[in-house]
Amino acid sequence: MKYISTRGGMGPVSFLDAVMTGLAPDGGLLLPESLPDVSGKLDAWKNLSYQELAFEVMRLFTTDMPEANLKRLIEKSYATFRASEVTPVVPVGNLHILELWHGPTLAFKDVALQFLGNLFEYILEKRGGELNILGATSGDTGSAAIYGVHGKKNIRIFIMHPKGRTSPIQEKQMTSVLDDNVFNLAVEGTFDDCQHLMKSIFSDVAFKHEHALGSVNSVNWARVLAQIVYYFYAAFRVQKSTGAKEVQFSVPTGNFGDIMAGYLAVQMGLPIKKLILATNENNILSRFFNTGVYSMGEVVPTLSPSMDIQVASNFERYLYYRAGCDSEKLTALMSGFAKSKSLTVPGADALFAAGEANTVQTLETIKNVYAETSYVLDPHTAVGVAVAERFADTDVPTICLATAHPAKFTDAIEQAIGITAHHPVLDQLADAETRCETIANDEADIRDYLVMKTR
Ligand SMILES: *Cc1c(COP(=O)(O)O)cnc(C)c1O
Repeated sequence: MKYISTRGGMGPVSFLDAVMTGLAPDGGLLLPESLPDVSGKLDAWKNLSYQELAFEVMRLFTTDMPEANLKRLIEKSYATFRASEVTPVVPVGNLHILELWHGPTLAFKDVALQFLGNLFEYILEKRGGELNILGATSGDTGSAAIYGVHGKKNIRIFIMHPKGRTSPIQEKQMTSVLDDNVFNLAVEGTFDDCQHLMKSIFSDVAFKHEHALGSVNSVNWARVLAQIVYYFYAAFRVQKSTGAKEVQFSVPTGNFGDIMAGYLAVQMGLPIKKLILATNENNILSRFFNTGVYSMGEVVPTLSPSMDIQVASNFERYLYYRAGCDSEKLTALMSGFAKSKSLTVPGADALFAAGEANTVQTLETIKNVYAETSYVLDPHTAVGVAVAERFADTDVPTICLATAHPAKFTDAIEQAIGITAHHPVLDQLADAETRCETIANDEADIRDYLVMKTR
């Protein structure tokens, strides 16, 4: 299986090269040249364990990797999960909740980042060299990235967060990882400052190469690939428990990475009737699927911060398919968007339903579901559940993706139902030792730090 850029400016590359490339040199995103049709294999796959299924799905996309190695990476990546099923599906009222938060940091990003970390280590061991990951976080994704690579050979990770502006739990999750290859930088500035610093450093190509800088952001193909697996896994479980042929998924959406994996599962032949795209007030994507217009707004902070986005970094992958896999058409759309901050795609995609849940609706949903079932939804999952309720279909079971454990967002849970959500992993953090360096909001200081630590 070879990979190409959505914008057509890159010769086909192997899977391992695609993983190391991240963003294509032409500014596009990487996608497989073609998608395998697995509709004839569903019956044989439906009783596999999570790891066995991951192997069957991923081997189709990782043909330049020996299968024994892929198997080993999958085993290692999901051994860190606290549920034997990795991503169990639990019935909650009329819904089926797909719990994606049993990984080390209690958020769905672990599913992909545990795998990506092991994959990076494998590639570096095979090819030589090292990788210095630089990232900026407002709090929610930094820890999943750190847990993906802590303690790994030939990799260092530098995560900048705005000093004193991330939630205490999230800060602790990051700074309590004490491995020698983890560097937490508390920048005296805002999240925007951190992002600017990162972009500016990455735009210096010579510096980037000299210090082997890389990122683990959500456009990396391996992240999307790892996420395809649980759509199959959950569909099989719910088909079995309900006898239904088709299912629908509701996906709390920010950067469109998670739901993109569902879209690819459909293209591969998984019988999904609808993908329900749920956003908070940052609704660029729900607006798009309801109007055909994709236009940038201002970011508003919400109770579901991991979905507070302005533009969705993975959306270009979907647009490529909507443009009929025509790179020229796609490139024209994207350059139009770069100029006017808006683009329009005529027609509709019947696979998608989309909606927005605001703060009040999110809190109401947490409260109602708790009152009816005693199950506590985190605010991101609650957005998905709120929107799913509008598209309930008596013939088609709905699977809601639960993207974080509620104890990561205690404020929202307290507001909604007046109780404090707990998880033993987070409780233990209270008196954990931490390590973190405070650093000025100054690019020269950050560069000096990187130079000193990567020598
Ligand atoms: C990242 C994240 C999301 C959004 O996923 P995308 O792939 O960006 O659409 C939703 N919920 C949680 C908890 C997240 O961390």
